[in-house]
Amino acid sequence: MYIETHAHLTMPEFSDLPLVVERAKAAKIDIIINASFDLESSRQAVELTKRFPRYMYAAVGIHPHDAQTMTDESFVEIKQLASNKDVVAIGETGLDYYRNLQPKEIQQAAFRKFLVLAQELDLPAIIHARDAQEDTIRIIHEENKGNLRGVFHCFSGDDKLIQFATEQALYISFAGMVTFMKADNVRENVKNVPLSRLLLETDCPYLSPEPFRGKRNEPAYIPYIAKRIAETKGVSLNEIARVTTNNAKELFKV
Ligand SMILES: [Zn+2]
Ligand SMILES: [Zn+2]
Repeated sequence: MYIETHAHLTMPEFSDLPLVVERAKAAKIDIIINASFDLESSRQAVELTKRFPRYMYAAVGIHPHDAQTMTDESFVEIKQLASNKDVVAIGETGLDYYRNLQPKEIQQAAFRKFLVLAQELDLPAIIHARDAQEDTIRIIHEENKGNLRGVFHCFSGDDKLIQFATEQALYISFAGMVTFMKADNVRENVKNVPLSRLLLETDCPYLSPEPFRGKRNEPAYIPYIAKRIAETKGVSLNEIARVTTNNAKELFKV
């Protein structure tokens, strides 16, 4: 009934993984996609697809915070991992000038390489863009050869980025922030994103939705995010579950 499009179940926070999976299934999460932030987590995400076949899928890539680990060797191995049939996306990739843990040029170079790779392999890109909207738009414009597919995950942009995403046929995914009391700006974005572009994610273990804020997040909390999105858009919870599942299937071919 739901697809969790962005989890980090490779992280040590999930030592109770079998229970996490049990709760996700009980919460009607039919599929989980694990996103990666470096080579090691990419390897682990692929391992999880073998441990939970037809339930977990993987995205492989290097997060902008880890962009300095993008070497020729790590890039080649990520490309090899991406040929696995259960790898359904390249990511995370993108730009993060908020925490700005890596020089902008290094983040941008890695982002460009992954956008090219995603198109070469015909896989969608999971794009992390924070406080870097102008450069994100410019680089996607420059690197999109016409067959870029992807999603802006944990969306924190504005109208302009929503407009751009819609024009480029990219998807927009919302996480637990949409439930936070003070996040009216995020809910304003939810209103402006067409249903046909919308995806759900937790980005767990981070950013638990209310009423779990401050605790570890997990895929079973997707319905709390979906419910708030349904209220914000004035449609039924079933409708949000249906369209976001269809959108995720369309994008990730799961
Ligand atoms: Zn991210
Ligand atoms: Zn993430």
